[in-house]
Amino acid sequence: VSAASAILVTGGAGFIGSNFVLEHLSDASACPVVNLDVLTYAANPANLDPLKGDARHTFVHGDILDGKLIRELLATHKPRAIVHFAAESHVDRSILGPSAFLKTNIDGTFSLLEAAREYYNGLSEDEKPHFRFLHVSTDEVYGTLKPEDPAFHEDTPFAPNSPYAASKASSDHLVRAWQHTYGLPTLITNCSNNYGPLQFPEKLIPLILHNALAGKPLPIYGDGQQVRDWLYVADHCRAIEAVLATGRIGETYNVGGSNQQTNMVVVTTLCKLLDELKPAAQSYSKQITHVTDRPGHDRRYAIDARKIEGELNWKAQESFETGLRKTVEWYLANQAWVEGVTSGAYRNWVESNYSAREVTA
Ligand code: NAD
Repeated sequence: VSAASAILVTGGAGFIGSNFVLEHLSDASACPVVNLDVLTYAANPANLDPLKGDARHTFVHGDILDGKLIRELLATHKPRAIVHFAAESHVDRSILGPSAFLKTNIDGTFSLLEAAREYYNGLSEDEKPHFRFLHVSTDEVYGTLKPEDPAFHEDTPFAPNSPYAASKASSDHLVRAWQHTYGLPTLITNCSNNYGPLQFPEKLIPLILHNALAGKPLPIYGDGQQVRDWLYVADHCRAIEAVLATGRIGETYNVGGSNQQTNMVVVTTLCKLLDELKPAAQSYSKQITHVTDRPGHDRRYAIDARKIEGELNWKAQESFETGLRKTVEWYLANQAWVEGVTSGAYRNWVESNYSAREVTA
């Protein structure tokens, strides 16, 4: 395990994972990436198109539940780190069908931890200090906050409310236990809501942009006063790199940009940006429609990120205003991408391009 050896990324064809792989490899001196992704509906291999022909990126079409495949990959590539993004990630889908969430998020993480444990135990004493297992998680494990409550910090007790949050909380506990029990050098990040380029249009911000441009209603759950702490995805990726480089083994780092906004403010701000950047006959805000609230909908999330800021010198660079503007500009400039993911064309593309198990993009 040398500094030059690869990192194994899981879920690197999804929203945050693909942003992470692209950001990571944008540095010419960065170590190679082996990218394992089963390509669920949420994945989009086209996100990785800029890496075509880049020998530092190896895409592997496979499942984190496939312990044999993971062991093969670890033995072949001898990575110096595993960065684990792969998950079922959409709260609404977890309410409709929790089973896939338990399978991937809990059993999948268990499968990865077991393969990582064997691999780590097989490393030499010189190699061991350089290995890390970084688990990417969410602030939703902490439950919900009242308006007067302080923001979530690393010692806030877990109180997950949705099947998604419960499955992620379970996986966080497994990672913690594999460190305490087996000495696997793990790190955990719990991050607030991300937004930015390449996000699948089922999540609030890309969904609103997509519907606005298509002349469809802009659905607001309940009163729209739910508060989320928004972070631009590139800031999250930088935080993961910082934790990987200098985070303390066994520690959890909360990641957030101190950008608490109600859903209503997010949607009206998006409408204003669209009114400015792509004016239509009437303001996009006329399309706002209130719909029945999600069952058990958490009212407020807020992240106290002082630990990562103080210890690792990380700070979010994008403000809510600059980040949202960049996001809207990206979606307007990449309508073909949006069409691809929403029309199902990308699924055909997946089938014709990813029949082979391992592809160097
Ligand atoms: P996403 O749904 O966009 O991507 C998930 C990726 O994992 C997809 O490419 C999918 O194909 C892959 N995947 C799913 N099951 C798999 C399996 N069994 N084997 C291999 N690959 C599999 O999710 P995202 O928004 O990019 O989130 C990535 C991670 O970050 C998740 O663990 C999520 O819990 C966490 N997170 C997300 C946010 C957010 O706001 N999106 C915030 C904090 C933490």
